Amino acid sequence: MLVSMVGLMQKARQEGYCIPAPAVENEHTVRACIAAAEAKNSPLILISLFKVNPDIMMFGRIITDIALRTRVPIAICQDHGATYEEAVWAIRAGYTDIMVDRSSLPYEENVAQVKELVKIAHAVGVGVEAELGHVGTNSDGPDDSGEGTGSSVFTVPAEAASFVAETGVDTLAVSIGTAHGPYKGTPKLQFDLLRQLRETVPVPLVLHGGSGTGDENLSRACKMGICKLNISNDLKRGAIAALTAQDNLMGMGAYKMYPLLAQGYTQTLEHYIDICGSAGKA
Ligand SMILES: [Zn+2]
Repeated sequence: MLVSMVGLMQKARQEGYCIPAPAVENEHTVRACIAAAEAKNSPLILISLFKVNPDIMMFGRIITDIALRTRVPIAICQDHGATYEEAVWAIRAGYTDIMVDRSSLPYEENVAQVKELVKIAHAVGVGVEAELGHVGTNSDGPDDSGEGTGSSVFTVPAEAASFVAETGVDTLAVSIGTAHGPYKGTPKLQFDLLRQLRETVPVPLVLHGGSGTGDENLSRACKMGICKLNISNDLKRGAIAALTAQDNLMGMGAYKMYPLLAQGYTQTLEHYIDICGSAGKA
């Protein structure tokens, strides 16, 4: 069934688990992720960048059609929507939720732009995630020690509470030590900061940059108030590993490669469903 991520995350927040949010790009990755959710009886939030598929209207129809036929609850959230137009396209394409990422703008500008899109999204029952502080990219800076997170800026709890009140946003992505892209070491998460954010911010929290963060770190964060965990790179790694484990790739034929890639995606996501504690929560 197709549902907004907001209700799923509110339930997860009350019960102390997290919902995995795998990145999808096409029909194959959507089916592979939903297979994992059905095998584990877990809710799922599919995430997708605006430019990852060349036709958002077609992709929206594919995802919503597959999700509607599914037994477990599935949400589809635009990831890192960068402009007003991207948000409106996602709503028109049938996405249940949008992320309005203005985290690199000054606070007042972030508030103004998120607030405007919250008004539009809520008018048609679409949920909104925003980001305060900034989750950077690992290529922005050195992190050999595991201490650095590129261009990241940690979220300030009091500011986050004001931001939620001013914008009316449904969920908030926070910066507590993760970053996008591959890490050189294991990142050091700020669990004290996460505890403060969980106590101060009245909406469910989101963690970006889940891949490579380490199972122990993630499992702890999911129990402490992270209700949506974005995962991309580790799924791709799992898919490539499943493919390259085959001996005779050239003799296989391209059409036989898709099921192998999907299998790698599914198995990696099943692992993350266990880490998140969402198995059996559908
Ligand atoms: Zn992200």
